[in-house]
Amino acid sequence: MRMHKTAGSLYLMWDPDTPDAKPKYVSYKVDINSCGPMMLDVLFKIKDEQDQTLSFRRSCREGICGSCAMNIDGTNNLACLAKVDRDPSTPSKIAPLPHMFVVKDLVVDMSNFYAQYKSIKPYLQKHQPSGGQEWYQSKESRAKLDGMYECILCACCSTSCPSYWWNQDKYLGPAVLLAAYRWVIDSRDDFTSERLAALDDMYKLYRCKTIMNCAQVCPKGLNPGKAIAKLKQSLHQGAPV
Ligand code: SF4
Repeated sequence: MRMHKTAGSLYLMWDPDTPDAKPKYVSYKVDINSCGPMMLDVLFKIKDEQDQTLSFRRSCREGICGSCAMNIDGTNNLACLAKVDRDPSTPSKIAPLPHMFVVKDLVVDMSNFYAQYKSIKPYLQKHQPSGGQEWYQSKESRAKLDGMYECILCACCSTSCPSYWWNQDKYLGPAVLLAAYRWVIDSRDDFTSERLAALDDMYKLYRCKTIMNCAQVCPKGLNPGKAIAKLKQSLHQGAPV
């Protein structure tokens, strides 16, 4: 039996070619037995066969690049990792990441998110150049980075956070704070106290109200809320914990 399903209801926030058009949902019927099992496969099928103007980001289709983050059936997720609900009686609903400016269809403007990431200096900082030597790290110190280095900067967590929705001009949000903590506890970095001091701000860090949507939605199974709690504790104690 060929199963037909309305698999894509897309929120068109703004189309640059028709700037006066209002945002709207558009429905497509898709035979999900003739494409791959993930929502990204369905989007490709719609774009190939029904609407070539449909815009969405994607690259690796393996949950590594983070490009295809969007809101699928009410939850932020990666389209390449989101299995299509095969019940034909329940249409799937897809929207851009919440509370982000939309460039077109499912493509959001990530400029502020990337600028915030850049602001925490996500790279090793040393007082002296290495002179061509490697900076060694014990296995125990390296293990402290587990649960953080895996972040793919998809922004699913930050855009699921109400504090980030209302204050993303000042609050760094879960993804960027997870990255900040990753560098705070890196045993090779010489700028730990400067990093912590830069975060000691009622908006940048303390706007986190421990809602924990971030940990619920992370497609990589990470826990940015825990990293934020560790940052607050580190500032309280004056040293990384
Ligand atoms: Fe995406 Fe998870 Fe990283 Fe947040 S912590 S940006 S949800 S991978």
